[in-house]
Amino acid sequence: MAIVGNDIDHAVSLLCANKLVGIPTETVYGLAGNAYSQDAVLDIFKVKRRPSFDPLIVHAASLERVADFVLEIPPEAENLANQLWPGPLTILLKKKDIISDLVTSGLDTVAVRVPRHPLTLSLLKVLDFPLAAPSANPFGYISPTTPAHVNEQLGNEINYILDGGPCSVGVESTIVSFEKKIPTILRLGGQPIERIMDILGEVEVNEHSSSQPDAPGMLKSHYAPSKPLILGGLQEVPNDIDKTEIGALVFGEMYTDLPEENQISLSDSDNIEQAAKNLFGAMRELDQKTDIRVIIAQLVPDHGLGRAINDRLKRAATR
Ligand code: AMP
Ligand code: MG
Repeated sequence: MAIVGNDIDHAVSLLCANKLVGIPTETVYGLAGNAYSQDAVLDIFKVKRRPSFDPLIVHAASLERVADFVLEIPPEAENLANQLWPGPLTILLKKKDIISDLVTSGLDTVAVRVPRHPLTLSLLKVLDFPLAAPSANPFGYISPTTPAHVNEQLGNEINYILDGGPCSVGVESTIVSFEKKIPTILRLGGQPIERIMDILGEVEVNEHSSSQPDAPGMLKSHYAPSKPLILGGLQEVPNDIDKTEIGALVFGEMYTDLPEENQISLSDSDNIEQAAKNLFGAMRELDQKTDIRVIIAQLVPDHGLGRAINDRLKRAATR
């Protein structure tokens, strides 16, 4: 198991030696390594069993520091970053050569974010390199939102996890590209697009994956538990499954005909932010309960963080 603690100096010494560290962010926990180090980056792909075609997000302390490794920051992107960083927003920018093709899977853009977690911001400030950090989970599985989640799956492969408590947002960042005339949302996430549209005006939302996704976070099946997740209510569950074998992610009323211990309420007050924060932990918990065979979940209201929640539920339901 990895040691869980809040010793930034220790994290710094590991990262400077090109070792990986679990780091907290407001979205999900990251598996971080020196973005300028081939060894560290290769190790991230290996530990996550992530296919090399799925590029990494690079985390920096500030917009000023981002200029170290990108060629240009278009005015629209700069405006968005100025208003929403630090925060759950990732922007694609043309990379400098200092960012290797490994990080970007051969693309000429790098995905960049300034995260809004005090511990990780302090860490980034003292490092003289940015951190490549995808979510700290095996590829395709549910993202971790606590140090314990990271330890459950990657604890044997890394030495240290910085403990920043449970993630405050709970779903991955919103990804925005400025490659086309109209800004494109490549992944719905922790930054509600309503706010992005307030700043940019019209945007295009590219939420449906194709066979050649621009962002593998757009892969249809992703963020998934190992048990089947069924979108909808009890009527959607196959007949051969007993009521005691159904787990439910609930937003709103609990099911009267299912055992209470197999149901997790995402929010006790119909609060969409709270539901996002609880989503992945709840999915994990139901996935781990041995008596449960299938998980049911209904879509939530499709606005604000509800759009990101629905996106993750749909992907989790796709096999
Ligand atoms: P994760 O860090 O695990 O949340 O995944 C990061 C997501 O960002 C992946 O799904 C990538 O596809 C996406 N991404 C990273 N870099 C790029 C890029 N240059 N172009 C498009 N998508 C990217
Ligand atoms: Mg991920």
